[in-house]
Amino acid sequence: MKSINEHNFKGERALIRVDYNVPLNEKFEVTDTTRIERTRETINKILGDGGSVILLSHLGRPKGEAKDEFSLRHIVGKVSEILEKDVIFGGDVLSEEAVTVCSNLKPGEVALMENLRFHKEEEKGDAGFAESIARLGDVYVNDAFGTAHREHASTATVARFFNGKAFAGFLMYNEVMNLEKTLNGQVRPFTAIIGGSKVSTKINILKNLLHKVDNLVVGGGLSYTFLKAMGLEIGNSLFESDMLDVAKDILKEVDKTGVNFVVRLDSVCADRFSNDANILIPNDNNIPEGWEGLDIGPKSRRNIAQVIKNSNTILWNGPVGVFELENFSKGTRAVALSVAAATLAGAYSIVGGGDSIAAINKYDLGDYISYISTGGGAMLEYLEGKELPGVKALNEN
Ligand code: AMP
Repeated sequence: MKSINEHNFKGERALIRVDYNVPLNEKFEVTDTTRIERTRETINKILGDGGSVILLSHLGRPKGEAKDEFSLRHIVGKVSEILEKDVIFGGDVLSEEAVTVCSNLKPGEVALMENLRFHKEEEKGDAGFAESIARLGDVYVNDAFGTAHREHASTATVARFFNGKAFAGFLMYNEVMNLEKTLNGQVRPFTAIIGGSKVSTKINILKNLLHKVDNLVVGGGLSYTFLKAMGLEIGNSLFESDMLDVAKDILKEVDKTGVNFVVRLDSVCADRFSNDANILIPNDNNIPEGWEGLDIGPKSRRNIAQVIKNSNTILWNGPVGVFELENFSKGTRAVALSVAAATLAGAYSIVGGGDSIAAINKYDLGDYISYISTGGGAMLEYLEGKELPGVKALNEN
């Protein structure tokens, strides 16, 4: 995969696949500009070289139809404001307007095209559609890590029409390099903390990480299926009965690999799913009927903090408790603080997933984390060990 740093874009029109799938309010105003801001560096590098920029993105799920509510026209003003320059709206990628706007684009200019998902061919990865998009520019840059796990026309297929001229933007490059460094080039001990609600969504990650890490910490709702598999009482805690055998298999695999599997030693339990619920912290890690575990308990907090403290590489995905409820947020806060403290002491840390990022932001610890991945689904698939179609396309072209 070549970074845009390896290329001079002077006199070229760069087609950049960005992820401007931003949230809009009822007045079609952008309510969170992070995704636009994070592409600024890539755009400025190309403009600085003397190139011009054609921005391609999707927005929402218009399912192959042109619908005004999903038009990227709504965000032209916000993109102009963030880039501090007028952005031309280039219209639908298959229109004559698009061809005219793109062929007349001068160095230093930026055009934003209409939502790619107005054409069903986009999500199908259609080669004809990809070729039409490719005709609009001279070089291809992918800076949309968030959609790199999709094999769509603009995220994967299009690269084949730019042999040798397909590059990773800074955002894409940094995401992949940081994940790669974490998974395959890490300084040991390597600890992964995996939380969240369900085993079913994290099985493949757990299986892949088992062969990579020294310590595998499992928290959140998903840990109760493991505790049940170990023969403990879990009361009314979150439990996926159809995942019990999978959990048992993972535990057998743990024995084989010798990885240190860290599951909770105690739980903060509630008599109902509410911040005002009565609280019980059983001594022996068995949860009585009528109670559900909503957070790791004090013994677990200290234990996990110690494991994190002794690590040189740390990967965190998913809250270890129902951190949205204040009374059940101490475990997630302890993890966030421990990861930040270990990072300050010299460890390398990577945090991803909406809830873990929200927790880091809630405690204002973003400055003390080595890398925050914005990938969402793409990050999870990377952690599962899958080759992402968007990354593969850049590697091959
Ligand atoms: P996920 O979407 O799978 O990453 O799960 C995130 C959600 O898991 C958050 O909304 C947490 O509130 C929830 N969660 C964490 N721990 C528990 C638990 N012990 N019981 C129920 N839900 C939990």
